[in-house]
Amino acid sequence: MTSSPLVSGLAEKLRTVRERIDAAARAAGRDPATVRLLAVSKTWPAEDVRALAALGQRHFAENRVQELAGKAAELAAELPDLRWHLVGQLQRNKAAAAARLGVTVHSVDRAALVEALDRAAEREQRVLDVYVQVDLGGPEGELGARGGALPADVPALADAVGESAALRLRGLMAVAPRRREPAPAFARLAELAEQIRATHPGASELSAGMSGDLEAAVTAGATVVRVGTALFGARPLASPAEGDTRAP
Ligand SMILES: *Cc1c(COP(=O)(O)O)cnc(C)c1O
Repeated sequence: MTSSPLVSGLAEKLRTVRERIDAAARAAGRDPATVRLLAVSKTWPAEDVRALAALGQRHFAENRVQELAGKAAELAAELPDLRWHLVGQLQRNKAAAAARLGVTVHSVDRAALVEALDRAAEREQRVLDVYVQVDLGGPEGELGARGGALPADVPALADAVGESAALRLRGLMAVAPRRREPAPAFARLAELAEQIRATHPGASELSAGMSGDLEAAVTAGATVVRVGTALFGARPLASPAEGDTRAP
């Protein structure tokens, strides 16, 4: 088996991240196999996705539809089983592209987007997996800075997804507030997820935790952690959506 320097470098990072997830799961009395790793490849070329895929990683996330489409197209022939996720804020006019690509959308944050995605998915005659993104707040003046629906609006949004013909509610997604202890925010998220599950039993996933706070997320019950920096390194360029899911 050939192994490029890129692949061996990523192998080390992947092992470290997986060890962090497994240790946090065990410490929380959870089965490590219940926490899946989503590799956030935004800003990195298809070559890095290919290298991580060579190590067995199959789920990748981007925050822009255009960038996702480019990498997915480049890798489709050689890696037909890659699964793509969108974690950045989605404009309504990109819903058709997202549906065509069959991506899992982690950033459903308003009723108009539910409608647009449902219509687009129906047109593609496919069912799209979606998460409702929750705004966990942040330091003063930063409310909403990281995207998502207000917690009070999440139940109605989940119901709207549940009533959609072509969308399947997988669960909730959130980004921890900046410069704050993530644990209390993740605990509030987990509580809300539990509440949603009472009426939407299929919404069993919790997408939370990034490179800096994945342990706190796993402790709170995350089933999907979204990791970029700890796998690929510091991103080369600060994209406008850096750390945020809401466009300026
Ligand atoms: C970029 C991004 C991540 C990955 O963040 P890292 O700190 O690089 O691990 C996770 N979730 C969302 C929504 C992101 O935009």
